[in-house]
Amino acid sequence: MEDQVDLLEALWLEANSDDEEQETIHGLPCNENLQLDPMSETEQTMSIRRMTAQISLKLLQERDSGARSAILLTMAANINHVKNLLQICELSKDPKTTTHELFILRDGVAAKTLWRSQNLSHLIALNATEVLARRLVHFHQDESLSESGVISAFWILSALATKDSKFSWQFGGALKIINPLLKRLACKSLGLYPILQVVKALARNTDVAQSLGGQGVVQTIVVVFRQVILKKKFCPKIKVALEALFMLAKCKYNVNLLVAENLSRDLLEILQSHKANLCQKRQTFKISGSILNILLHIISNNQGKANFLRDNGTEILKSFCQDLTIKDRRGDRLLSRSWTILSKCRTPKLLPIADDFSPMQFDAPEVHWKKRSSGCYSSATSRETTPDTDDDEVADDEYEDEYEYEYEYEDGEDEEDAFAEEMPGALTGLSKTSSKVFKAQKRSDDELRASYDKFFIELQSLMGGNGTEESTPSLSSSVTELYDQLHTERVCGLYLFEDIALPDRLFLNDASGPEEFLHQKNCNIYREKLLKVLYNECKDNSRSSTNLNSFIHDNDEPSVDLDVVYDLDQLLDPSHSNVGFHSRGDSLQFESRFESGNLRKVIRLVHQEYNLILTPDVNTAKHHQWFYFSVKNMRSDQIYTFNIINYEKTNSQFNFGMQPVMFSQLEYEQRGLGWTRVGQDVIYYKNEFSKSMAAGSNYMTASFKIQFPHSTGDVCYLAYHFPYTYTRLLTHLEVLQCSKSQDTYLRIDSLNKTLNNHDVPLITITSNNDNARPLLERKLVVLTSRVHPGETNASFMMEGVLDQLVSDSQLASVLRSNFIFKLVPMLNVEGVINGCHRCGLTGDDLNRQWDKPHPILHPSVYHAKGILAYCHQILKTSHLPDKKQQADQPFLFCDFHGHSRKKSIFLYGCSGDESWLPSDSDRSTNSSHTENQNKMLADLLHNRFQGFERKSCRYAIEKSRESTARVVVWREFKVQHSYTLESTFCGFSKHEYKGQQIKPSHLSSMGKCFVNALLELAEEQESTSVGERKLQKIIVTIPDLASQSRII
Ligand SMILES: [Zn+2]
Repeated sequence: MEDQVDLLEALWLEANSDDEEQETIHGLPCNENLQLDPMSETEQTMSIRRMTAQISLKLLQERDSGARSAILLTMAANINHVKNLLQICELSKDPKTTTHELFILRDGVAAKTLWRSQNLSHLIALNATEVLARRLVHFHQDESLSESGVISAFWILSALATKDSKFSWQFGGALKIINPLLKRLACKSLGLYPILQVVKALARNTDVAQSLGGQGVVQTIVVVFRQVILKKKFCPKIKVALEALFMLAKCKYNVNLLVAENLSRDLLEILQSHKANLCQKRQTFKISGSILNILLHIISNNQGKANFLRDNGTEILKSFCQDLTIKDRRGDRLLSRSWTILSKCRTPKLLPIADDFSPMQFDAPEVHWKKRSSGCYSSATSRETTPDTDDDEVADDEYEDEYEYEYEYEDGEDEEDAFAEEMPGALTGLSKTSSKVFKAQKRSDDELRASYDKFFIELQSLMGGNGTEESTPSLSSSVTELYDQLHTERVCGLYLFEDIALPDRLFLNDASGPEEFLHQKNCNIYREKLLKVLYNECKDNSRSSTNLNSFIHDNDEPSVDLDVVYDLDQLLDPSHSNVGFHSRGDSLQFESRFESGNLRKVIRLVHQEYNLILTPDVNTAKHHQWFYFSVKNMRSDQIYTFNIINYEKTNSQFNFGMQPVMFSQLEYEQRGLGWTRVGQDVIYYKNEFSKSMAAGSNYMTASFKIQFPHSTGDVCYLAYHFPYTYTRLLTHLEVLQCSKSQDTYLRIDSLNKTLNNHDVPLITITSNNDNARPLLERKLVVLTSRVHPGETNASFMMEGVLDQLVSDSQLASVLRSNFIFKLVPMLNVEGVINGCHRCGLTGDDLNRQWDKPHPILHPSVYHAKGILAYCHQILKTSHLPDKKQQADQPFLFCDFHGHSRKKSIFLYGCSGDESWLPSDSDRSTNSSHTENQNKMLADLLHNRFQGFERKSCRYAIEKSRESTARVVVWREFKVQHSYTLESTFCGFSKHEYKGQQIKPSHLSSMGKCFVNALLELAEEQESTSVGERKLQKIIVTIPDLASQSRII
């Protein structure tokens, strides 16, 4: 206790010290195991109380003095000061002392101060949320703590809530006191704000939100809100009350409560009577934003919608939009949100197609397999609290996802997206899944050997030196000829392709191409489009006549009036031969019947404007994102507008600088130009077409304008991203065979046949050099890519990997000497061939099948998993008598993806500590070292390639990601280094490439750097592994490479 007194004295001295004294104070001893005996009223206890009071008084009296800064900075400089204060706060029997302590701590985390961030880190490290929650419960029971003490505690908690990733988890025990405290503090002007902040933070977790609703918190806030509203004054409390209600309303139970309270009437009243204020003042932007967000939830409830319509909601909202004068992105967001609400209140209007379902059908074999229900992964706990979805998952439940994106600022800069939080269900008492025990679907060693020995023959054939099949073939024809030959012999779509797209055959290299900068969004165009839709649709609803050409379809009208210039449905239907491909006069001519092509229907509107409809994935009615088609018959003196009208995702990088890509045949022939980013006035907005007759979620339009470089005679190809076909992969593999360096062992196997009988290549690369590491000591690295066919960026990264691994650089040679690489560059071959975005032939997302892949329906995932199982079970410990030589295999797994909502390239990894499943954290108990190593790869990648963004990396294991490759491989095969590598489709917002759009050469560099980083990662692991084993072979072999690899 003496030390405790010393610590307080130190703080006190700080307040009264000049500069010289400060030096000695920092050196004061700290006692880390201090226990304060609450029973003894010793002299020391008394002096603690006295000093606490003095310090707190000093802070209170001298708000702007140096003394305050000195005290609080000293606190921040040493965690023991904070620990000390927290302990006194926890153990003190004297409520006054506790109040003083709380006041000091609260000042320690005051907003916009130098010391806040450091003190918050200390408090989080000390589990302060839990300590304070426990203390509050205690004081609530015996009512001993003063109101100002309670308020201070909530200020500290509200600060903790912004940074503590386990906030609701740690606060769990105190949930029940929230409602009584809310009631008690409702009329206290200073107390309400922090407690509402805490509610808002807690409600991020939907289980907790429901629990709070069950305790009456929703009704209390509504009552409080009405009381404040009566004063007709906008203040921060209204803002936070609305934000808290919005968070609470993410759970349907609470929406029912809001509907019962008829809150929408109050909200509409505010919109109506304070319109001028809300529309013009930037401060009130968040208030109107929250009002719209809550309304959005309310009208999703049938009674809620009825109330909204009865209270004249449609008119009020329309007039709100009309008067909206904020002409920037925030204004756009209000408009877009209003339109979302209005669109849910109108008669649905369907796309001008006969059937939403894909015209491309595949009869999957009938096997006994229970398809996952779509709700399986949209459980509230994971979805709503985790805006950063892994590998860019498509919304199964549009209702939930929508608000998330609507609420999101560009690139998730919204504070609500600052971090995700999941709370183990057991603590809330609500989740039924908390008892779930993970069970792997294990295959026997014999079965694995029987199936996969053949894919590991290098382990035998290389033993005695060079293998038998080694003689480098030479390429007998040009790459383009080879491409055509492979395409004819080995590629077959679900329907007969008309063509081979020219750019795919050329193996374009953009390395010397110009930098392409992010496109500036034209907000005026965006507003124009949105307002046009909004007004016309509202007019439609009120049955007044509308004859706007741009609104091409009404359910009452037959579609014969439409000027259809391309129609895949009809082209694929033999009874309609030659129908559906009009080439009337000056219309553009479209075609997409080639590998990876995707375009379903094109309707010509007025002038040079076309509405385009994309084809859904095979056997589904959704996943519209990827497009790839050609156009002919254009004029270079015209500007054409393309509107792709059946996008699903609620936001897109098309609104944040991304442009589509175009290839012009004449530009290539005349200037050698390959794919370039094109398109002016690129925007993305919610349109008037509903996804189904059940009113609600509308499709989105991606619109862009193009002026083509040449007139008739040119053929231009337009795509969502740089195309990468299956044929290109096959061709590239052939080329590699012929160009690999001498000491490269390269073998290409067929991992399996797809459902439509294509080979899925499995590539083995290692060294056949006698000086290389013994085979059985080499680390296995398994990389996969393109499980999502629309993510062509993944293929370009994989191409970079392949090129680097077979190159004759010294570094590549060292990589081959130390590792055996098993690569599956295209897991979803069928999806790629047939122009799908997300799925394969069965309509299943293959990256959601890794936990239980079906051998017949998902063969490539089943067998890729088999390869990993083989590494894990068969290669792990066999052959090596010396235990120290044994290592877990594989060393690393990574699946390459594209991410459609973020910029840059980044990783998702697995950290047991950040898992929703409590048993996962056992994996991390070994050491924090394991965790650091896990995150080390991100640093290594950033050092090598500036387009890699460490800050976007995440390591959480979420329930919704259970069946992804990354999590399954980490959990089932205990692969510590198990990652998803995600690349943007758009560009970079930081570092060296800031402001640029991404291109294939960036992606290929990323692939090269990825494998180069593996050396250092392995080195790090070996140098720190247990025992006296000093495996420095990697650096010993070629010492100068260690440093070289850092630069590359
Ligand atoms: Zn993906």
